[in-house]
Amino acid sequence: MKIQLPEKVTFIIDTLMRAGFEAYAVGGCVRDSILGRIPGDWDITTSASPGQVKTLFPKTVDTGILHGTVTVLVDGEGFETTTYRIDGEYEDKRHPKEVVFTSELMEDLKRRDFTINAMAYNEQEGLIDAFGGVLDIENKIIRCVGNPVDRFTEDALRMMRAVRFAAQLGFSIEEHTKAAIPGLASNLAQISAERIQVELVKLLVSDHPEELRTVYETGMTSVFLPEFDQMMKTPQNNPFHCYNVGEHAIVAMQNIRNDKILRLTMLLHDVAKPVCRCTDEEGIYHFYGHPSEGAKMARDILRRLKFDNYTIDRVGALIVWHDDRPTLREASIRRAIHRVGLEQYPALFEVKRADTLAKSNFKRAEKLAFIDAYERMYCEIMDKRQCLTLKDLAVTGKDLIGIGMKPGKELGEALNYLLMHVLEHPEHNKPEILLNLVKTTQNSE
Ligand code: ATP
Ligand code: MG
Repeated sequence: MKIQLPEKVTFIIDTLMRAGFEAYAVGGCVRDSILGRIPGDWDITTSASPGQVKTLFPKTVDTGILHGTVTVLVDGEGFETTTYRIDGEYEDKRHPKEVVFTSELMEDLKRRDFTINAMAYNEQEGLIDAFGGVLDIENKIIRCVGNPVDRFTEDALRMMRAVRFAAQLGFSIEEHTKAAIPGLASNLAQISAERIQVELVKLLVSDHPEELRTVYETGMTSVFLPEFDQMMKTPQNNPFHCYNVGEHAIVAMQNIRNDKILRLTMLLHDVAKPVCRCTDEEGIYHFYGHPSEGAKMARDILRRLKFDNYTIDRVGALIVWHDDRPTLREASIRRAIHRVGLEQYPALFEVKRADTLAKSNFKRAEKLAFIDAYERMYCEIMDKRQCLTLKDLAVTGKDLIGIGMKPGKELGEALNYLLMHVLEHPEHNKPEILLNLVKTTQNSE
């Protein structure tokens, strides 16, 4: 098996080897190369100690010196170079209590999570595949190196990583590896939210977001996303729907492109349905108020999982408005754009389409036609560069002060009044018309 290493990686490996050490490309980059995917980053494993690595290269960064990782900079590009190590006993299911360096490559490969991630390569020795990683790649299988119960007990995050790799690669999880998860899933409670978030996002933006079902079935969502378990247990019992709330969210994710904000929005857009459910006289379920309640819940969940504020705000806003249906009149659409916020477009249309496509066929054509018409009108309004926010208004607070208004609350109200007027009559967005309007309302008060 020949892998084309980037020149800079070859340079680092050769430098280490000329100094008498062993060195290999290792882990994800070897796996991705064999798969014909372009590796995101190239990691190097070596028998040299961190100190020795630092003396061999002029520019290095102490990335994780205690764990043996030094980043070697070659022409400004960084390559994590880690000393062969054995992870000691895992103290808190998270960090190895102690890291022991070793001179044996095999010891380093043994500590890695899955067979497909436990291969090393350099040009001199070729591929080192001690655990059948190539065979598992051929058979599309995620399999623990060694005993899965032991490996998941050492580090609970590996259970999420197993499903995340299955989702990214379209692989299935080997039977014993999968069977070890339910009994150990509760250990995920000891893993930091940040690390869970990384694996969850990689899963959600993969080609197989439906693998979230595996996370649920193996008992992992109940630890860090119990709201999803409630969704999976909530039927909809309504002609517009053919799935329970959780399955609807999964299908909605499959129907939207693999963007983090969009996938999180589809995952959580109906998160409040289990708590907003009511039943009418005919036994049909309704979920009044679920968009705004859902946005609140989603914000709490995303905060708990330590997402950044930008993500929380975008997802929250898209959830609030996911079911907003303005009248198809230009003025109503302008008011909707103002209400929802310009920054939510055109993503909101993608959300609405994905949501609709994850429901039953009942009135689907009408619903899609409505979204199309809404989007067409939105585009026309944008093309005409009509006024949609206070910023676009032909007068400012200063202009109003110029005609004698006092700064303060009333000034803000006057500007808002003018904006509402202009949303209805875009042709009135001219200083003289607006100032006149303020004067006449002032006089009539
Ligand atoms: P990605 O393409 O998503 O970066 P990756 O395989 O490179 O995938 P990383 O998280 O960057 O994954 O880890 C690099 C390598 O370190 C893995 O391929 C694996 O060999 C090892 N590794 C990472 N996390 C763990 C873990 N929790 N337990 C055991 N080995 C791990
Ligand atoms: Mg990596």
